Order: sequence, then C-alpha cells, then structure tokens
Amino acid sequence: MRTLSHPGAYASHMSADCLFCSIIAGDIPADRVLENDAVVAFRDIAPKADTHVLVVPRTHAPDVAALAATAPGELAAMALAAQEIADAECGGQFKWIFNTGEKAGQTVFHAHGHLLGGDLGGSLV
Ligand code: 5GP
Ligand code: ZN
Repeated sequence: MRTLSHPGAYASHMSADCLFCSIIAGDIPADRVLENDAVVAFRDIAPKADTHVLVVPRTHAPDVAALAATAPGELAAMALAAQEIADAECGGQFKWIFNTGEKAGQTVFHAHGHLLGGDLGGSLV
C-alpha cells in the first residue's frame, strides 16, 4: 500500500483507491469514447444495452448530488458529453441513469451517468 507523506501528494480532485479515478488517470485501461477537460467517457465493462457508456467527471465526488454541490460545471459538461456520444452512436436518443446509494445499485462511489442507447426493450421508466 502506498504511504503518503502528506495529503497534498494527491491532486485534490482525485481520491486514492477509487476505480474511476484510476481509469481517468490511465492507470487502469478502458475503452474511451470521449474525453475533454471536464469529463472522461468509456464503455461499461458489462454492457446492458447496444450503447452503454459511463460518463464520468474528472473531479472525484461520491455521487451526482455531491458533484452538483462541488463542481456543477462538470455535471453540465457530462450532459453535453452524453448528448455528443448519443448523436454519434444512437441517433441522439438515450436514457441516462445515476444510481445513487447502495440500495439503488450504486457500486462505484465516483459520480457517473450510465448512457444507454439503442434497443432498450422494456424500460423501467
Ligand atoms: P454503478 O453500479 O455504480 O451505477 O455502476 C458502475 C458500473 O461500472 C457498472 O455498470 C460496472 O459494470 C462498471 N464497471 C465496474 N468495473 C469496471 C471496470 O473496471 N471498467 C469499466 N469500463 N466498467 C466497470
Ligand atoms: Zn474517484
């Protein structure tokens, strides 16, 4: 385990031991489809639709509401990125899901939107 001499050894927008921070940093490979100053988007490792992309802010926040409170501009950038990807892959139409909390199915506690597109079959909502 890496020992830090002081907390500032990590950039403030990153969190140690966070899967998505590691993917953003390039330490863990992912099939990236879009990235800019605010957002990285990559394909979900276990896709649930023809298009299933995770849209992730560069700033670490545990869920979407925490992101809205701390970095609202990145939340807006996520929406624009999702639309751009959907325009390219699924005629501009998509479902966008933010699992928030364990009971809602959240397993990675770095805010992310699931962009789902294509034939979605029977949708929950
Ligand atoms: P959550 O359940 O937190 O809403 O979404 C986490 C998503 O991350 C899941 O759909 C899961 O399949 C995906 N995931 C978990 N580990 C990895 C990984 O290492 N790479 C990629 N690309 N996706 C992952
Ligand atoms: Zn993170």
